[in-house]
Order: sequence, then C-alpha cells, then structure tokens
Amino acid sequence: MTERITITEVGLRDGLQNQPSPVSTDDKLKIADALLAAGVDHLEATSFAHPKWVPQMADAEAIMTRLPKGEGRVYSALTMNHRGYDRAVAVDTRSVGVVITATDTFNRKNINMSFDEALVECIEIIERARTDGRHVRGYIGAAFVCPYEGRVSPDVVLDIAEKFADAGVDELGVADTIGAANPSQVKSMMVSMVNNFGADRVGLHLHDTQGLAVANSWAALEAGIRRFDSSIGGLGGCPFAPGAKGNVATEDLVHLFEGCGFDTGIDLDRLRDAVRVTESATGLSLGGKIISWMDSRT
Ligand code: MG
Repeated sequence: MTERITITEVGLRDGLQNQPSPVSTDDKLKIADALLAAGVDHLEATSFAHPKWVPQMADAEAIMTRLPKGEGRVYSALTMNHRGYDRAVAVDTRSVGVVITATDTFNRKNINMSFDEALVECIEIIERARTDGRHVRGYIGAAFVCPYEGRVSPDVVLDIAEKFADAGVDELGVADTIGAANPSQVKSMMVSMVNNFGADRVGLHLHDTQGLAVANSWAALEAGIRRFDSSIGGLGGCPFAPGAKGNVATEDLVHLFEGCGFDTGIDLDRLRDAVRVTESATGLSLGGKIISWMDSRT
C-alpha cells in the first residue's frame, strides 16, 4: 500500500502575512478553492494575530467562517495569545496552533514576549484547547537557527517539545523559520523528535531561503516524518525574521514525494492552476522549480 504524506498548505497564513499589498477575503477564498480542487485537505488558513501587527490577517473570522466545509478537510489557524484563542473559538476553529520560538530575542521580536512568558502562554492555550476538545498544534520556531542568536541547540527544542507534550499537544511542528537548516541537522533533529514523540505527532515546517528545503524534506522523510507544511508557489516570509524567504513550495514537495512513490492526495496539474490563481490574487510571480519545468513543456 502506498504510504500517505500529509501536507498542510500554509500559504494563506505564512505566505500572505508578509505581503505588503493587501489580498481581499474573496481572493483568499479563491486561492483556498483552487487548493481544495487540487486535493489539498489541510489548510492553515489564517492567524488570529492583532490586526495592528499583522494587518493581512485582519479578516481571520471571515476566512474561518466562509471556507467551504467538506469531509476530511482540516482548517487550522494560529492563535498568538489568549485573546487570539478566544477569537478562534468564537468562530469555532477546530484546530488551533500556538507558536514559540526557541530563543528569547526572537520571541520578543515576534510576539513581544520573553521566552518564559511565551512558554506559559502557549501551555495555557494548549490546556484550554484540550479542555475545549480542539485539536492543537505546538510550533517551535527557529528550531535550527535564530536570526538574532545563531545556531539553536537541539536540546532546547526537545525540551520545549516535552513541555508541549506534557500539556497535551496533539501535534508538534518543528519550524526552520528562516530557512537556514541543512539536511544533516534536520535528519538528526527529526530522528530525536520521532524517537521521543512518535512520527504521527511530529511535522516539519520549512522555508527555502538557501535552496535546501527539498533536500531537508527528504532528510526528514528518511527520519520517519510524514507531515509537512508548505506554501503554494513558495509564497512566504516572516515579518519579524530578517532574511526569511518563502516556504518550501507545495508543488515541489508533491513532485518529490509522489515521484518517490508516496501518496499526497494532491494533483500536480491542478496545483499549477492554484499557483496561477495565487499569482493573480497577489500580483506576485510565483512557482516552485517544478512549475517552470512544467511550463517549459507546454
Ligand atoms: Mg514560517
């Protein structure tokens, strides 16, 4: 039987949050429709961040309310603090994400909290989600390299993961937020994560700043990871992470995994249509490596 890989499409959140020109709610929903038509069934659709800090996500409630419901579809949203969690619950968001970054400086820049404050807030939200019967994912950002403090010790990441697991997190998301990890680091970190928490509970979130995201994905796959985040067309960046470029392109991951005999449930030709829809919604020129190759043949 073909082994399944779960891809969570994060373009609508991580991809759009850094774009300088606003994308309308209607256009975001058009992107969502194109992704769903391609077979994407996990969407991280928005972030309940304060609109003052992340104006692109000011329509979080409208997005979560208007996404088309469907069997097997999972729509998640980030909650940066208790207020964000309250907003997510008010529109019955079934799957929420909390975020901490591995270093003190990055937390202060990213969410205006110290590392210790962020940890307490994340754990409280994980516990609230458990009580409320919501699926909760704990992201550990800058898990390999921090733009302010440099290389991050795997022990720091494992320690945060342990605390999230103790609080009852459903899933752990290890994030190379600035796209600076290499396959050797990724493999060793993900082997430890799988050994400690089980492959079902661990996902990987990669950016392609230095061109190693596909290689890093393969390294993680060899470590047993079957859950990946990616962004349509490679859209992305992080407003608080200098030098961060786009997420690994969804189409490049689908091409990699399908080509190697895994099942993503996603159709590459329909994904190319979704890239075009995202380009017209954002005014950007987008597309992973495989899109240029596909275009050169038609
Ligand atoms: Mg990211």
